[in-house]
Amino acid sequence: MRSPLLEVENLGRQFVARRSAFGRPTATVTAVDAVSFSLDAGTTLALVGESGCGKTTLGRLLLRLIDPTAGRIYFDGRDVTTLRESELKSLRRNAQLVFQDPYASLNPRMTIGQILAEPLGLHEVVPRSHRAERVRELLRLVGLEPRAARLYPHEFSGGQRQRIAIARALAVKPKLIVCDEPVSALDVSIRAQVLNLLRDLQQRFGLAYIFISHDLAVVRHVADRVAVMHLGRIVEIGKREAIFGNPRHPYTRALLSAIPVPAPGAKRERIVLRGEMPSALHPPDGCAFHTRCPVAVARCRIERPELAGVIHATACHRADELPPAADIVPRHEGGSQILEQLMNAFRRRPDGQDGAGVDTLEKTAEKTAENPQ
Ligand code: SF4
Repeated sequence: MRSPLLEVENLGRQFVARRSAFGRPTATVTAVDAVSFSLDAGTTLALVGESGCGKTTLGRLLLRLIDPTAGRIYFDGRDVTTLRESELKSLRRNAQLVFQDPYASLNPRMTIGQILAEPLGLHEVVPRSHRAERVRELLRLVGLEPRAARLYPHEFSGGQRQRIAIARALAVKPKLIVCDEPVSALDVSIRAQVLNLLRDLQQRFGLAYIFISHDLAVVRHVADRVAVMHLGRIVEIGKREAIFGNPRHPYTRALLSAIPVPAPGAKRERIVLRGEMPSALHPPDGCAFHTRCPVAVARCRIERPELAGVIHATACHRADELPPAADIVPRHEGGSQILEQLMNAFRRRPDGQDGAGVDTLEKTAEKTAENPQ
């Protein structure tokens, strides 16, 4: 049996929140707490949850952009948890990051050609004499014209800048890309194009994605597996069909019930969570969700539930008692339908058939060539 590309065990990260006058830590915040999961090559794991739940910190821990304070990270079978900066070059090449805001992540003083050539030089992926050709190839891969290499980031739209950011991540031929809210800042039609591009690139190169998002309609279309995070911990993890078809954790149910239903006549009871997410500085005892959980019982205030289950795991004392969630998650939820239609529209080949891979990329290249702004 093939081992996973990425495996994390009890990963944790604490930050110092306050120090004494002498610089000694007096309060800490646990941003990521005892997180364990694995990710196979060529698959997508989505990390979802409200703002501040620790998903972005977890993404950066996986890339060793910040150091964990507990647990282990194995990449391609190798323990990379404690590698020193000088030893991290191989991980940095094989695991890349795409940010939410492509404009902030692209140096405005560099041309797109220079931006794409930079990692090639850094990691010596191709000889200097072949770099210009590799830059052209990367631009083609993300549906941009080769002449884009001479332009600057401000000369592109948001969607095109995100394509450039994806091309830069691809430059070093990674095995894993951590996508941190990669389409949140884009219009819905552009969103579908970028999601299709990510899917095509995954199929073509066998990429694995960690897809960080608060948008469950998007996650439904990209994820193979979904991990729901709350206050630094994974509270539910499983295959996409299980999470959307039968969510077992009350927090997951509340998140899913908030997906809009614009379909005429469609009815669904929204689970409204009362109150704010508890402070990570002073997390509640027992289950950290008990202060907002609509079905909490006395035990929940005392005893913290552990993640239980193998394929579909849930951290809730009452997961086995709750009724099925068919009424909470409708079969037709509008935001998702609209996105699906857009994604299919952008995947249609000139001959009228639905297509994927190179055909889609070339079609996109034609479109963007007509309108490079
Ligand atoms: Fe709600 Fe209790 Fe389950 Fe926590 S353990 S999610 S408080 S029922």
